[in-house]
Amino acid sequence: MPGDAASSRLAARILAGLGIGLALGLAAGILVPPEGRAALDWWIDGVIQPAGRIFLRIIFMVVVPLIISAIVVGTMEMGDIRTLGRIGWRSLAASIALSAVSVGVALGIVNLLQPGSSLPADKRDALVESYSGASQKSIERGSQSQPLSTTLLNFIPENPLAEAVNAFNPANTGGGLLAVMVFSLFVGVAMTVAPREKTSTLRGFFEGMFEVSMVIISFALRLAPFGVACLGFVIAARLGLDLFRTLGAYVGVVLLGLSIQQFLVYPLALRLFAGRKPLDFFRGAREAIATAFSTSSSNATLPVSIRVAEAGLGIPPRIARFVLTIGASANQNGTALYEGITVLFLAQVFGVELTLGQQFTVALMCIMAGIGTAGVPGGSLPLVVGVLLAIDVPPDAIAIILGIDRFLDMCRTTLNVTGDLVVATIVSKNPGPA
Ligand code: ASP
Repeated sequence: MPGDAASSRLAARILAGLGIGLALGLAAGILVPPEGRAALDWWIDGVIQPAGRIFLRIIFMVVVPLIISAIVVGTMEMGDIRTLGRIGWRSLAASIALSAVSVGVALGIVNLLQPGSSLPADKRDALVESYSGASQKSIERGSQSQPLSTTLLNFIPENPLAEAVNAFNPANTGGGLLAVMVFSLFVGVAMTVAPREKTSTLRGFFEGMFEVSMVIISFALRLAPFGVACLGFVIAARLGLDLFRTLGAYVGVVLLGLSIQQFLVYPLALRLFAGRKPLDFFRGAREAIATAFSTSSSNATLPVSIRVAEAGLGIPPRIARFVLTIGASANQNGTALYEGITVLFLAQVFGVELTLGQQFTVALMCIMAGIGTAGVPGGSLPLVVGVLLAIDVPPDAIAIILGIDRFLDMCRTTLNVTGDLVVATIVSKNPGPA
């Protein structure tokens, strides 16, 4: 992934690409007369859309290896849980609980407010049509329902390789990408238990696989400004001004979800489990919060978080260092919340009805994706693409979201970092015997 300055430049170029694509697409949608519509459609389907998909295809190519290696490496980093005893288990429990609440908030408000449903039916049909029936596959798959017990059992894959190969195959009735994630979690946990000298090659392999996948994604992102311009053109030409209303609703719902977690859930958790006044906490943590907002990177914020935790919040150094270092890459509530809203929003835009069971699967995937997401700007995007592919929502639509992603990234990273500090505060209040 690009460094901080380079990533800001890239984000600016992607935004510019989106702006140009949307403006040209809107103009084309308005100015091309009805008799020229067939020619415009030919250009869109034959040239502009395929050109825009190049960078996405490069990302799709590495989604499976990235997810496997990210979750194995992320879980391996938690290896100290055993040696740190109760502190480790308590921080793990607090992280999972806060992550589950954040995904619950996401699912609750996105179902309640339905930001993706504001699109008029004719526009939605045009959109679904132009993505060659991909969403139809999902509707068909949704109707082949299986008993809940089978669905749950399928999360533990009989053959993880087969699940990885068929992760994006709509006819696959196994656990798909979620089963791959569960397998990776097992591998990561087992690696922390197996003797280190015997697993060092395997560790190096997964770390290498992760680095290489991230480099390939950074290649893809270099093409993103052009790709987003093309895909923005396609969507604006087909949806016209309705697109902006829908997009505005999406941004509003993401910000609402993040605010609920930041200003209701965290203060409540701090009061209940740490006996701490929320205002004092936010005052003590403000420097880390501001750094997270401006860098969009939990990793880049880590040194400030550690300083703030020790000096501003009075958390003992051994707890602060342990909880925050792991949390920077493995506890990302804002990211989990954002992924849940984004995936369900795009499903609504494409009229893909997700059953309760499928929504539960999305929730689990988002919680695990929170472990696998790198704490760098845009770290969650490949995982969003993975989840979209897994539920057969056309992942091309991520193009619109990519254009405004930097702003949402700043906001969700703020939450990721605050969440780590909340966990550290709770654990320091109840450390138990180490
Ligand atoms: N930028 C986020 C972080 O560093 C990760 C993401 O959601 O993209 O925490």
